[in-house]
Amino acid sequence: MGQNRETFEAVREADLTLATIGWRLAVSNAPLCDRLEPGIGLQLHTPDQFDSASRTAAQAHFGFATPVAVEGVIAGSPAERAGLRRDDSLVRVGSVDIAALPGKPATTQRLVATQLAIAALAPDAPVEVEAIRAGVPVKVTIQPVPACRTRFELLLGSSYNASADGTMVQISSQFLEEYTPDQVAAAVAHEFSHNILHHRDRLEARGVDFGMLSGFGANVKYFRQTELQADLLSVYLLANAGYSPHASIDFWKRFGPSKAGGIFRSRSHPHWRDRVATLEAEIAKLETISARPMIPSLIAERSQPLSGDWQSLLIRKK
Ligand SMILES: [Zn+2]
Repeated sequence: MGQNRETFEAVREADLTLATIGWRLAVSNAPLCDRLEPGIGLQLHTPDQFDSASRTAAQAHFGFATPVAVEGVIAGSPAERAGLRRDDSLVRVGSVDIAALPGKPATTQRLVATQLAIAALAPDAPVEVEAIRAGVPVKVTIQPVPACRTRFELLLGSSYNASADGTMVQISSQFLEEYTPDQVAAAVAHEFSHNILHHRDRLEARGVDFGMLSGFGANVKYFRQTELQADLLSVYLLANAGYSPHASIDFWKRFGPSKAGGIFRSRSHPHWRDRVATLEAEIAKLETISARPMIPSLIAERSQPLSGDWQSLLIRKK
């Protein structure tokens, strides 16, 4: 595959860009979440997530001394304050013994297992981390901050993809290449909203078949409701995290007209022009609120079954 230094470092930078966006959203909006994890601020990677053609080069480039290493440390995070650094190889994170986690070559199994095990630790108890830095053992204690529980995953490739499955937000690298960081944050905030509002669970409770995806029959109203709810919550997530909520409008004005087909244009999703009108109305509302974080009523309603009422949420473009 001919991976070289520049490629590895470009992927590292892109991973860290997404991780930083996810971090800002997840920590600032922790009061809106009922599923929390300890926010420590580490972006991790593993040698076995590389394919066999590039694994040796990746091993040499990053110098993995254990099966999981720090790909990057988020600026201003507890991990940075505790003194952890990129390319530290992890031995133990709290009670999580890194070597004991399962991993298969050419998969992200070990990465995901590590992220889930760390996410299951207490959200605000100190975490002792043992690592190896340039062959030397290092031990630090991180004081985490509560963060909404979601993994953020960058999908490498040249197509536009964004999805949320309840525990993960995935977005393709193409967005990072073509859109501004604030616009990417808007797309991430929309997907993140699905997880915060438990949409996957609530759709399943309505008997929605994800195998059929979204476009058919009685399911359409539930998908539309969740899409509009995710749009509405996304502007609060952005504002709470210090982004301009208008980034969501910038995103749709750019993405909407240019991308035919794909997940954003299925029948379950309202027309992008109506989404923009709906976002504009909600932003006008939230700009009258000075409290931070802002907690919209959608949060209290997430324990209720989906009603399928999307019409009352949508504001049509005049
Ligand atoms: Zn969506």
